[in-house]
Amino acid sequence: MKKRTGVFVCHCGINIAGTVDVEKVAKDLAQHPGVEHAEDYVYMCSDPGQKKIIESIKENKLDNIVVACCSPTLHESTFRNAAKEAGINEFQCEIANIREQCSWVHKDKAKATVKAERITKSAVERVKKNQSLEPISIPVTRRGLVIGGGIAGLQAALDMATSGYEVVLVERSPSIGGHMIQLSETFPTLDCSQCILTPKMVEVSKHPKIKLMTYSEVKDISGYVGNFKVKILKKSTFVDPEKCYLCDECTKVCPVVVPNEFDMGLTGRKAIYIPFPQAVPATFILDYENCPGLVPIVCGKCADVCDSDAIDFDMQDEIIEEEVGAIVIATGFDLYDKANMAEYGYGKYPDVLDGLQFERMLSASGPTQGQVLRPSDHKEPKEVVFIQCVGSRDPEQHCAYCSKICCMYTAKHAMLYKHKVPDGQAYIFYIDIRSGGKNYEEFVYRTTEEDRVLYLRGKVSKIFQDGDKIKVWGVDTLAGKHVEIDADMVVLAMAMRPSEGAQDLAKTMKVAVDKDGFLAEAHPKLKPVESVTSGIFYAGAAQAPKDIPEAVAQASGAAAKAIGILSQEQLFHSPMVAEVEFNLCTGCGMCVDVCPYEAISLKDGKAEVTDVLCEGCGTCQATCLRAAVTVKNLTPLQVFEMIDASIGG
Ligand code: SF4
Ligand code: SF4
Ligand code: SF4
Repeated sequence: MKKRTGVFVCHCGINIAGTVDVEKVAKDLAQHPGVEHAEDYVYMCSDPGQKKIIESIKENKLDNIVVACCSPTLHESTFRNAAKEAGINEFQCEIANIREQCSWVHKDKAKATVKAERITKSAVERVKKNQSLEPISIPVTRRGLVIGGGIAGLQAALDMATSGYEVVLVERSPSIGGHMIQLSETFPTLDCSQCILTPKMVEVSKHPKIKLMTYSEVKDISGYVGNFKVKILKKSTFVDPEKCYLCDECTKVCPVVVPNEFDMGLTGRKAIYIPFPQAVPATFILDYENCPGLVPIVCGKCADVCDSDAIDFDMQDEIIEEEVGAIVIATGFDLYDKANMAEYGYGKYPDVLDGLQFERMLSASGPTQGQVLRPSDHKEPKEVVFIQCVGSRDPEQHCAYCSKICCMYTAKHAMLYKHKVPDGQAYIFYIDIRSGGKNYEEFVYRTTEEDRVLYLRGKVSKIFQDGDKIKVWGVDTLAGKHVEIDADMVVLAMAMRPSEGAQDLAKTMKVAVDKDGFLAEAHPKLKPVESVTSGIFYAGAAQAPKDIPEAVAQASGAAAKAIGILSQEQLFHSPMVAEVEFNLCTGCGMCVDVCPYEAISLKDGKAEVTDVLCEGCGTCQATCLRAAVTVKNLTPLQVFEMIDASIGG
């Protein structure tokens, strides 16, 4: 039976109508074979526009419709819902994108109008052969996974758990807390970082809905939104947390000393250790890589003194499988590798520190109990130079982007230094001050007005040791002068980088990274916490440099998105998926190889599509030499008819 098609051409204000003669498109389409009705309207997506579509479908007894408007990513669901409301199957509605693919990319109105007509006719040819379909329903595993136990991961896990959903929280290091637990005080309020973070760490560890897996890494993922299967490597700690009662006797006898990661190498730790006093979980771990040997046992002194038999040299790594419906990745950041900053003497001169080392020095729980002392001679430094943008905003040699938090934490460093050494002088070399945030600007002014910190606009060209001083050569571009400072200490505000291993994890999780290695969001404006893989969300500095309030806000956003999935009993997937004609399929497997979503596999010598994984991209259809696989509502016949219409045939 001949189908009756309706065409609705949108002006999109002047977005389309400024370049395309929309009245002509509607008039000409009305003459196209099979089109029963065509009209144009200023905003089809508006309520009156949708009403026009609904009424027209009913009045003209239309079987299907084409809306010529903007990209289907924006309003396809709007118009499909309108079609459904009018009583036709929602998949009897197609979009002709005459904005992004036409009006926005052309200037010549006559030519753009011809192209808009062809795009619309092509959609008409497609919709004429559309099947009526129903969305595929998928049951949801109603528990979540959070990867990363820094502030963003903790917030996301707590938000999901307090909403009633079980959460598996996986953290790579032996304790949760991330970099925030290393900090002294936080800008601009000067809250003690550990004081505000440890209650959250404890809440996570005690929460009945949170399964905490520290010293663990996600190694594999399969499945799809609502039904992910994840393999997690739980590394052996060689210490039974149930038996260890934190007596600390083992560390006293352990002969191995290595740099303490928590203190950023300013102190040492033993091969058996607790990461820091407030570590969660509170347990010792044996660092297998630095212990001289467990099989056979080379030393074994820790086990000899452990009177609770907590040390188990035979403990093995485990692979644990978890099923979850939604995932939040919050893998945080690391500092730019100091090996890249040899020109600033970092790693060469002991009194040149990075920002996190200075944080540890300022912290009451740090190696100097909060006193500012030179690592070289433990004397109080009287002249300290802080340098911003170290490795940031330097597209030629280092990272092109702004690390966002360095202006603020450097101001805080200088302020705290002055609080501890009132007769000292702090200098800050800056390119410009970026202090966008609530009360941030005022905080920076306080450092200059109350603490007399001297800001020097310019770059440092050279740093070198000169006796017990560190010579800092730079330029003050405002005064137009060369500056030379005999400093006692230099603190570098290093660039933020995605955390080590984040790229590998992104590959495992099948999510994209941007050119700088940060996780790439699905849309920078409209989907800032979503990945391109449905059901996987981002939180914190893994996505881009962020301060604590931003990381927390984004974590709550990601958790809300995850809860949006977990709160449903079932999800719906587009039914426009590939299907295999078994009689034609020879089982050659070419479609299996080309499918970018791993949606096809061979079963009993024939290709089989997992509907919920299929995104209907059509790659398999274009590859199969036997035409055994076709995508519903985008069959080869439809594609040929669309091509004919596009070229004016
Ligand atoms: Fe724990 Fe045993 Fe070490 Fe004491 S000696 S801290 S109980 S592992
Ligand atoms: Fe330290 Fe390893 Fe000896 Fe234990 S066995 S005391 S961890 S070196
Ligand atoms: Fe895979 Fe695309 Fe074919 Fe679906 S249409 S099975 S996603 S190649």
